[in-house]
Amino acid sequence: MDLRADEISALIKERIRHYEDKIETDDVGTVVTVGDGIALVEGLDQAMLSELVKFEDDTYGMILNLEEEVVGVVVLGDDTNIKEGQSVKRTKQIVEVKVGDALLGRVVNALGEPVDDLGPIKSDTYRPIERVAPGVMTRKSVHEPLMTGLKVIDSMIPIGRGQRELIIGDRQTGKTALAIDTIINQKDSDVICIYVAIGQKASTVAQIVEKLKANKAMDYTVVVMASASEAAPMQYIVPYSACAMGEEWMEKGKHVLIVYDDLSKHAVAYRTLSLLLRRPPGREAYPGDIFYLHSRLLERACKLNDELGGGSLTALPIIETQAGDISAYIPTNVISITDGQIFLQTELFNSGIRPAVDSGLSVSRVGSNAQTKAMKKVSKSLKLELAQYNELLAFTQFGSDLDAITQKTIDHGKRVQEILKQDQYEPLTMELEVVSLYAVEKGYLSLIKVDEIKKVEKGLHRHFINKHSDLLKALKETGDIDEALDEKIASAIKEYIDEYQLLNGDN
Ligand code: ATP
Ligand code: MG
Repeated sequence: MDLRADEISALIKERIRHYEDKIETDDVGTVVTVGDGIALVEGLDQAMLSELVKFEDDTYGMILNLEEEVVGVVVLGDDTNIKEGQSVKRTKQIVEVKVGDALLGRVVNALGEPVDDLGPIKSDTYRPIERVAPGVMTRKSVHEPLMTGLKVIDSMIPIGRGQRELIIGDRQTGKTALAIDTIINQKDSDVICIYVAIGQKASTVAQIVEKLKANKAMDYTVVVMASASEAAPMQYIVPYSACAMGEEWMEKGKHVLIVYDDLSKHAVAYRTLSLLLRRPPGREAYPGDIFYLHSRLLERACKLNDELGGGSLTALPIIETQAGDISAYIPTNVISITDGQIFLQTELFNSGIRPAVDSGLSVSRVGSNAQTKAMKKVSKSLKLELAQYNELLAFTQFGSDLDAITQKTIDHGKRVQEILKQDQYEPLTMELEVVSLYAVEKGYLSLIKVDEIKKVEKGLHRHFINKHSDLLKALKETGDIDEALDEKIASAIKEYIDEYQLLNGDN
C-alpha cells in the first residue's frame, strides 16, 4: 500500500498531539493495587521520590519506590477507602509540616496536625520534612553545655548543645525517664524541647504529656507522636517531621533539644514498609539503606556558626536493646552515628542504682568541651573511682581480708555511687550538682553512713539555698571554683556536716 505525503504528515501530527496528551496526564495516575498501607500506582512517570500524592478520597500518600511501570506509594493515613482504578494526583511537593512558635505546648502527629483538643495550629510557615544536613563550613564545634540536671550525666558524660548523644538500654531501664528529666531541666534555660514518640502506646505518651504539664515543661515543649496503632508510614516520617520543626528554631538562632523515643521502633517501621514495597531484605531483614535512615536524620543535629545565628539542635536518640546486646545491628549503627552513648543497665536498675548508667560503657565524645570549669573540677576522677570500686567489689566477694587502702577505696566508691543516684523528676541546677559532688570528692561524706547520704545531700542543698545562696550565685555566674570560692564552699559544707553529726550524734 502506498501512503501519500499528506497522509504521513497527518499521522505524524496525530502522534505528536497524542504525545502531548500523555505528558499532561502524567500528573494523574491510577491505582493498580492497594493493601497494607501501600499502593502501586501507574501513569506517574514524572513523579519524584518522596513526593506527596493525593488519592481520590483526599488521603495523602508519599512516593517511596520509583519503578519502571509503577511507583510505590505509602498511604499516610487510612487506606480502606482507596480502591483499584481510582485516580491519584501529583502535588509536586514533598511532605511539609507547619513550624513555628505556635507549636509550643501542643501535641501533633507525624504530619504536624494537632491531636490534642486545643484547636488548629496557628502558623502559616511550612517546611519540608527532609532536607540536606548543614555542611561542615556552616557549623561550629560544640561548646555550650546542655545540662540534664542529672549528676551522673552532667559530671561524667556531659552533653553539649548541638551534640548527638544516644540513650541505649534494655526495656524498662529508665531511658524515657532520663530524657524527660532533661526536658524538665530546661525550664529556666533558653532551650526549646521536642519529644518525638515513635511506635509507643498512645496511653504512655498521654502520661508523659501529663508529667510534662505537671512540671510546667509543656510551655516550651512540642510532643510529636506516631503511636503504635498508627500505620508504619506515619512512624517512619515522624522523626523527620519533628526535626524540621526543630530546624526552624535553630535557624532563628535558638537552641533546641530533640528526643527520638525510640529509633529501634523507627527502624522496625521502616523495615515493614520496605518489605511491603518488596525491597530486598538484608541483615535481620532490614533493607540495605537502614544506616542512611538514621544517619540522615541525626546529621541534621548541629551547632550553627555565628554568621548563621549560632543556634543549635541537640539530639537524644533512644535505642532499645535486647538482653543488653549493644553489638546488635541497629544499636551499632546508631552508636557509630552519634557522638557518644549513655548505656543503661538492667542489673544496675534492679539493684536500685537509678539512673542506671553504666559509667564504664558510657561515653561522650565532644561534651567535655562544653562542661563548666566548676563541674570539671569536681568530676574529673569520678569515672576512675567508680571503675576501681566496681573492680574491688567483685574481688571482696571472696571475703578476703582487706588492707586499709583497699577498704578506703571501697568506702569512697560506695559514697560516690550513692551520691550519683537521683530520683525521677528531680533534676538539679548545675550549682547544686557541684555542691553534691564537691562534698563527696573532698571526703566530707566519708563519715556519713551510706544509707543516710541521700538525706544528708538534701539537707546540704537546703543549707546552701537558705544560708549560702551567694555561693550558689557565684558558682552560677562564674561557672568556676576559684581559690576563694573553694574555701567558702568547703567551710559551708563542713558547717552543715558538723551540725548534722552533732544532731545525729552516732559517729
Ligand atoms: P521502655 O523500654 O518501656 O520504654 P524505659 O527504658 O523508657 O522503658 P522508663 O519508662 O523511663 O524506662 O522507666 C521505667 C520505670 O522506672 C518507670 O516506672 C520509672 O518511673 C522508673 N524510673 C526510671 N528512672 C527512675 C529513677 N531515676 N528513679 C526511680 N524510678 C525511676
Ligand atoms: Mg521508654
